Amino acid sequence: MLVPPHIRPSWVVVHGACCHVSTLAALAPAARPPAYCPLCEELITPKVGAIRTHHYAHRPDSRCAAAHPETALHLNTKFYLAQQLRSASSLRVAQTCAGGRCGARREIVWQADWDDVAVEFTLGSLRPDIALLKGGRVVAAIEVVVTHAMGDDKKRMLGEAAVPWVELEASAALYEGDAPWTPAQPLPVWRSSTLPPWTCDSCVAAQRQAALREAQIQRDAEYRRHNYETTREAMMVDSYFCSGKKYREVAYLVERYRRDTCVGVFVRTEDGTVIADASGDTPEALHTQVKAAVEAKLDQLRARPATDVVHVRIAWRRWEKGRKFVAKDTGRFPFSYTWDAAAGRWRRPYDEEAVHAIKVVDLYFSAGEKRREIFYVVQRYWQGLCAEALIRTGQGDILAVEPGELTEPTRDRLNRVVRDRLAAHHRAGALVDAWAWRRWEPGTPLLVADEERYVWGVATRTWELASE
Ligand SMILES: [Zn+2]
Ligand SMILES: [Zn+2]
Repeated sequence: MLVPPHIRPSWVVVHGACCHVSTLAALAPAARPPAYCPLCEELITPKVGAIRTHHYAHRPDSRCAAAHPETALHLNTKFYLAQQLRSASSLRVAQTCAGGRCGARREIVWQADWDDVAVEFTLGSLRPDIALLKGGRVVAAIEVVVTHAMGDDKKRMLGEAAVPWVELEASAALYEGDAPWTPAQPLPVWRSSTLPPWTCDSCVAAQRQAALREAQIQRDAEYRRHNYETTREAMMVDSYFCSGKKYREVAYLVERYRRDTCVGVFVRTEDGTVIADASGDTPEALHTQVKAAVEAKLDQLRARPATDVVHVRIAWRRWEKGRKFVAKDTGRFPFSYTWDAAAGRWRRPYDEEAVHAIKVVDLYFSAGEKRREIFYVVQRYWQGLCAEALIRTGQGDILAVEPGELTEPTRDRLNRVVRDRLAAHHRAGALVDAWAWRRWEPGTPLLVADEERYVWGVATRTWELASE
């Protein structure tokens, strides 16, 4: 605590009793009795003029500590309080709520039963700043603190002597100014031996509420430890509509646990809509069940107009924490198709095209005409990945397009288009000599021009196998 330097001692001993130096102001200087410093007990000079606060001065060669502001503040506070308490019958103290920052205060009567007040009364090896006495016995102690709080030893010894105590901060505001402290007001104490920490009613209620909330949080957390839902797999579907709009959906396969046991599996979309749900305790079977339900929904979508595309962007994959993909994430997972406004259909863009396989078909018509058709399986690549596979004729017509990698089912579907076309020729009466698909090696010349196997028999008017 910083003590203002202007504080000077103002309590003196006159005729063996302590009094404020102002009591000498009423007397002419020559009529004033000798006054002594209560600390060094030397004769002092009263300074009780009209301008400065009344105080006293030591002789110039004095080394008394009372000349220091800290000591002066301590003495002034102590003697002032003692004087006030001598004429009082009870001492109230103010206590601040310990519950938080509400700042609530209460006042309680701390002591009410004393018949004398002593300063620096000797109590064994202790000398409390102010002692309240009854019948010559110390019943309570008041410690006035300036720079150091009361030591633990002193507190312990007061406790052993069964003397309740309070500790308060020395302050000129207690004894100076327009409204100095009086026993009608509560004493602003720091600490007390007999006052347990006090918490106001509203803070007690708030603490109780907080405890209830915390307990509920604990119960909830405990419940969630054993009853939870955990995402196991996820997939992503892009839908391209004939209107030219595109839409992405992410689906999560989630296992539901109750009391640490799997009780169901469901699939939800990113907005939380559940699109498939199955109950049971065998997760693997439930996975199959909900996936089939999702597949059926996709089939419904695929059955829409031909210009629509349903593209499984990412098939079911194990869900790993931190690998999150979201429907809006078209940066990392760009849409695979672009709208070809001229053609009125969706196309996968490609930057590279390669012939994968070739099929040569000779068609022999009943009128002796023949025609050769060539079919190519072409793969188109976009940034190194196969974007689509298609069937193209030697004339450059595209007969069918399959999105994605060239897989076995894709190959079958493309081949079926060729077979259907050849079956139509056959039904129309043509002799169809279809060669097997063969892998196309880049740079291989197409040596098929002279490999015709049938010749037109002019006499028989039929196609005959060419002789060697
Ligand atoms: Zn002195
Ligand atoms: Zn409070």
